[in-house]
Amino acid sequence: MTTVALKDVTKVFRDGTLAVDKVNLDVEDGEFMVLLGPSGCGKSTVLRMVAGLEDPTSGAVMLDGELANDLPPRDRKIAMVFQDFALYPHMTVGDNIAFPLKLAGLEPEPRDERVTDVASALGIGDVLGRKPSQLSGGQRQRVAMGRAIVRRPGVFLMDEPLSNLDSGLRAELRAEISGLTRELGVTTIYVTHDQAEALTMADRVAIMRKGVLQDVGTPTQVYGRPATLYVAAFLGSPRMNLLEASVYVHLDRYVTLTLGEQALHLPWDDIRSRAVAHYHGERIVVGMRAEALTPVAPDAQGAVLHGRIRYLEHHGHESLAFLDVGATAIVVDEMGARADAPATQRGRRRFGQVVQRLTGRAAEEVA
Ligand code: ATP
Repeated sequence: MTTVALKDVTKVFRDGTLAVDKVNLDVEDGEFMVLLGPSGCGKSTVLRMVAGLEDPTSGAVMLDGELANDLPPRDRKIAMVFQDFALYPHMTVGDNIAFPLKLAGLEPEPRDERVTDVASALGIGDVLGRKPSQLSGGQRQRVAMGRAIVRRPGVFLMDEPLSNLDSGLRAELRAEISGLTRELGVTTIYVTHDQAEALTMADRVAIMRKGVLQDVGTPTQVYGRPATLYVAAFLGSPRMNLLEASVYVHLDRYVTLTLGEQALHLPWDDIRSRAVAHYHGERIVVGMRAEALTPVAPDAQGAVLHGRIRYLEHHGHESLAFLDVGATAIVVDEMGARADAPATQRGRRRFGQVVQRLTGRAAEEVA
């Protein structure tokens, strides 16, 4: 049982590259934490510092509350699972799993016992005599996991383990990996640049950009209430609508949100009013998911944004309308209108989730 904590961890490589910039992250015991971000954002470097393969330039890596900066990798009770779950092709499944124990000098008898236990826990007890080439993709992955857990690590580290597999197998293995690590109760840090992978597998997701941790939260939190404009724009497809607006709070208790040429008047008891009211007199960015917007007739009453439909896109499970709203283009999920919840409430509940002052920096982050 292990916790991992990073305190102000920074990594500057010898050539001056700032790969990780003052990252603070707590991973709880048994938690499945996904590090997500575009290529080069520093995810692997974070993982390598947890493993002890890279030294932090400053800050602390803590394992179970103890400073681990100077602990050699072999003493960290950590197992790393690599891309493709590479196995030794000439060895049987049993020998593959036993290999780390052999290296550690464990006698054959306890070794075999441990291998049998692990294999049966993973449901591969009946294929111990086979070679990797005689296994299915899912079985191979279980063998690789078996080899990683046989030394009873406190933490699993996985760096894009599914990136070279075809999409069908990837989707299948995602569920298997997160299921298995939960069954085993092992703390896991999983690196990926694939947001679908992150959102489906994680207990919590940590999103990085250019070495900086942008947001940490459950998939629902980071998707629904992203901490920064970058995360708002990065997560989700179609991209979250981000509209510049100004806010005016009227003393007779309603709020006007001006988006380009259009003004929305929101009654005080509307949840959206409260979300924006404390930005009175300011320019902000309002984020709205396509599925939170509901198409209505042009003469509908209430807080309605008017737009001209540019085109429609049908995806089977969703149908997207792309609209020009003044100078801005937005996207609306037409199916939203047909979902069970009353349309106006759906919109009302979710509208206005990201509100950020429109400063030079924020505007830059959206671009
Ligand atoms: P990817 O998904 O492409 O693996 P990543 O998010 O894991 O990317 P890192 O591999 O951690 O990113 O790299 C972060 C930054 O540090 C990048 O700019 C990379 O070029 C740089 N970097 C990584 N290793 C070294 C090194 N040994 N020396 C110098 N720079 C490095």
